[in-house]
Amino acid sequence: MLHADGIRKTFGNLEVLRGVSLTANKGDVISLIGGSGSGKSTFLRCLNCLEHPTGGEIRVQGEAIAFKPDGHGNREPASKAQMRRIRARLAMVFQSFNLWSHMTLLENVIEAPVHVLGVDRKQAIDEGLRLLERVGLYDKRDVYPAFLSGGQQQRGAIARALAVQPLAMLFDEPTSALDPELVGEVLKVIRALAEEGRTMILVTHEMSFARDVSNQVLFLHGGLVEEAGAPAEVFGNPKSERLARFLGSFH
Ligand code: ATP
Ligand code: MG
Repeated sequence: MLHADGIRKTFGNLEVLRGVSLTANKGDVISLIGGSGSGKSTFLRCLNCLEHPTGGEIRVQGEAIAFKPDGHGNREPASKAQMRRIRARLAMVFQSFNLWSHMTLLENVIEAPVHVLGVDRKQAIDEGLRLLERVGLYDKRDVYPAFLSGGQQQRGAIARALAVQPLAMLFDEPTSALDPELVGEVLKVIRALAEEGRTMILVTHEMSFARDVSNQVLFLHGGLVEEAGAPAEVFGNPKSERLARFLGSFH
């Protein structure tokens, strides 16, 4: 359903991704782990066209993203319409809370359905309230983000991502900007999504969570997949010395 094949990305002279591949089938929960600067965020951003890979191919439900040279030695999507279509199928939740501050929580959640997907407003509100209920924020529907805790904002961001009915959800360290006591409530929501069979790609430093919820783990180092496999293998029996050291740093 989502294929990335040999993704490369350079920024100037810096080779950040040197050929990263990943296949996500329906229901897969894939965790990307690795040290700071290993390319995790850049890879995730390439998947939903926030960055444009210098090389390699991305296919979403069999549809390959078409690129053309951007005139600066890199590539850009050949079709803005296709880029928007692909981006809508892959909803991203970022590390720092990115709800729109001038809108209430419910307005945040219905914005894309109404204005991008053309869903009827009444229907979008019904669905939005249902999603807020799911993430435990029904009571906060008319509140502005500034009056929500970090954990609430992040759960709100998840509800907003769900509202576009994405094919897959991409999470970039969704809990690392949170106070420790708020991490659990966000992980609980993500775990529930995993259990209902949603396809997810998750960059995380929460190793025990990654081990629990994923069916595939990729360890990135220096822009390459250094080791990949089932969580029991990757966490329980790391083959690469670097991965063993990386995991050791969490104890
Ligand atoms: P972290 O765990 O700290 O979030 P990461 O694995 O997500 O790290 P990336 O954010 O993908 O790492 O960054 C990989 C490398 O690419 C870093 O050296 C970073 O400085 C560089 N980089 C990322 N974005 C850009 C950019 N827009 N321009 C130039 N360099 C960039
Ligand atoms: Mg990152």
